[in-house]
Amino acid sequence: MLDTRTKAKLVEQIEAIVGPDHFTTDETDAVLNAHDAWPLSEAKIRAGETLPLADVIVYPSSTEEVSKILRVANDLRVPVVPVGGGAGTCGGTQPTYGGIQLDLKRMDKILAIDGESLLVRVQAGTVGIDLEEEVNRHGYTTGHTPTSLRASNVGGFIATRSGGSMSSLYGKIEDLTLGLEVVLADGSVVRCKAVPRHSVGPDLRQLFIGSEGTLCVITEATLRLFPLPPSRHFRSMCFPDVHSGLMAIRAIFREGIFPSVVRLYDAEDTALHVSTHFEVEEGNCMLMLAFDGRPEKVDIDESISARICIENGAKDYGEGPSKYWWEHRYDMYYPTKFATSGFSVGDTIDIVATYDRLENVYHEMKRVMEAHGAAVMSHFSHMYPNGGSIYMIFFVSQPDAESAWATYREIWDDGVAACLREGGTMSHQHGVGTTRSTYTEAELGSSFEVLKKIKEVLDPNGIMNPGKLGMGGHT
Ligand SMILES: Cc1cc2nc3c(=O)[nH]c(=O)nc-3n(C[C@H](O)[C@H](O)[C@H](O)COP(=O)(O)OP(=O)(O)OC[C@H]3O[C@@H](n4cnc5c(N)ncnc54)[C@H](O)[C@@H]3O)c2cc1C
Repeated sequence: MLDTRTKAKLVEQIEAIVGPDHFTTDETDAVLNAHDAWPLSEAKIRAGETLPLADVIVYPSSTEEVSKILRVANDLRVPVVPVGGGAGTCGGTQPTYGGIQLDLKRMDKILAIDGESLLVRVQAGTVGIDLEEEVNRHGYTTGHTPTSLRASNVGGFIATRSGGSMSSLYGKIEDLTLGLEVVLADGSVVRCKAVPRHSVGPDLRQLFIGSEGTLCVITEATLRLFPLPPSRHFRSMCFPDVHSGLMAIRAIFREGIFPSVVRLYDAEDTALHVSTHFEVEEGNCMLMLAFDGRPEKVDIDESISARICIENGAKDYGEGPSKYWWEHRYDMYYPTKFATSGFSVGDTIDIVATYDRLENVYHEMKRVMEAHGAAVMSHFSHMYPNGGSIYMIFFVSQPDAESAWATYREIWDDGVAACLREGGTMSHQHGVGTTRSTYTEAELGSSFEVLKKIKEVLDPNGIMNPGKLGMGGHT
């Protein structure tokens, strides 16, 4: 929290920039904005604990206003926490050291749709579903459909290096972001041109993509578009185990086939999410596939993929489970399954590894997490020719808050340690935020020093989202 004099000065200058209606110092607003979708914060709130609060929440309407606000914050050495949709799962928007929460939701304009170059220019506060529905009306898709599409916005997608459910075909947000406008801690505005690629030094867009508010505020982006696919076919294949499912996925990519959806559920996740609607033998693992494109091409891709699956021991379930998942993919979150009662807490650990390590990472993480009494279920949800991600969901119940939070942290510590030991990477799409902050150094190794030096240059006063992404706290 800021001292009274600094806060008074800050509020006066903020009001001069955005006017009296576009900021709040109200405690109720601060409490409501104190957390994102990090399950531990939600569990703590249910248990009656309080979280750190922002001193001021500001709603700018333009890049110019963002620039002025950052200049003021930098002069007064006030922390700034950018807020997108607030659906991040890692405590990234938590105002750990108080200060300003800079909420981009008023910057929600779709500025230009360019059908010739297949691009859309958009302000960072545009909610994912609003963007997707607008470009759909013009016959296009962004190809970026994370399950948080209705809750997150473009700035949040880019700041966390998010991945959509169709990423195997269309790519992740770092593949889709061609142009970027960001504001640095001193208020300077930086623009990276929208070009298909370039050979003019390192790609600075990639420095800002995934920076989680610690290096800049993202104010605008130019994203790729794709023509809406004329057809989408679903196919479901049930394997006796995870191993045979992964072998089949690898073989599909080796044929040069890129399904839009590739999701392999392990036995526990199949039991919870598939067996409730379809008859599946206990211990089996369901693979959901989807194929986008012209019907004649989709037919060929689908039939080759089905043949590969059957050769690897799968039973053909037709379109059923896969289509059902697609049509109900938002249901499991509303109401959230993480809204557990008493002193139960759960979370998701999304990791990524190459094929040679993926199965070991999976078995080892599962083993060490279960050793704490956690129920663990997983799906392999973003797959590539060279490897893929595992989305591990865990729940644990304890008799009191103290042991619940301690067990939660031990599961994370041991889970991430097992992931790194077996050669995986600790986050595929959710980012680092507060949850994984202490593991950043172990994950990045020698490159962490480079990241810290870049941070010192771009944000010498340490005002940008302090305490996140392994970066030190605000002094
Ligand atoms: C139900 C549910 C489903 C989800 N499904 C997926 C999924 O399929 N794929 C996936 O990748 N993730 C998923 N997530 C996680 C999360 O929603 C995404 O990571 C998303 O990208 C976060 O965007 P947001 O706008 O909600 O960001 P926020 O939570 O507001 O912010 C996240 C981080 O980015 C920073 N930030 C936000 N906006 C800006 C900006 N303009 N400039 C600089 N920094 C900024 C914040 O400071 C914070 O550190 C899911 C979350 C939920 C709750």
